[in-house]
Amino acid sequence: MTIEQQIKAVIRDVNDFPKPGIVFKDITPILKHPGLCNDIAEEYVKRLNGVKIDEVAAIESRGFLFGMMIAHKLNVPFVPIRKKGKLPYKTIEQAYNLEYGQATLEVHADAIEEGKIVLIHDDLLATGGTIDAAAKLIEKLGAKVGAISFLVELDFLKGRERLLPHSDRIISLVNYQ
Ligand code: 5GP
Repeated sequence: MTIEQQIKAVIRDVNDFPKPGIVFKDITPILKHPGLCNDIAEEYVKRLNGVKIDEVAAIESRGFLFGMMIAHKLNVPFVPIRKKGKLPYKTIEQAYNLEYGQATLEVHADAIEEGKIVLIHDDLLATGGTIDAAAKLIEKLGAKVGAISFLVELDFLKGRERLLPHSDRIISLVNYQ
């Protein structure tokens, strides 16, 4: 089986979560397969194909799971990006639109040095609003987005179109049409 088939075999669809009418892709069953988790982290490294990455930044909380594993495999620092009010030290922030209302992401102001090349990781690409805000945060710090990785991309929501400046550097292990 390909890695995409292995991941698809364990991802679970949960109907009406977090709201009626939404089919949520639950990635937590993957975590029960340590060998698959290791293969996933190695697959990202393979797909980076030698692109230089200085740091990995990931979005709470599901992004942390494989974000940290990728950072470990690349032997580079890991940077947490969190929802507003969760990080203890001085932060910079970026607001973004949700389907209804707004949300804000934060990163520590001293998390990444200027000029560093960053891989941003999250579990899933839907409309692209979250990862777009994360990319803006990285750029506000004076760092560069070297690549963006997801476990899952929901193609029909066209999130990729929102990430146009980075579209040739997006890695998704699993796609749903
Ligand atoms: P976007 O901003 O691209 O519309 O939404 C992506 C964000 O919402 C990600 O941080 C992701 O964790 C979360 N998300 C939205 N839908 C799902 C889903 O079906 N499954 C999972 N695991 N996360 C989702």
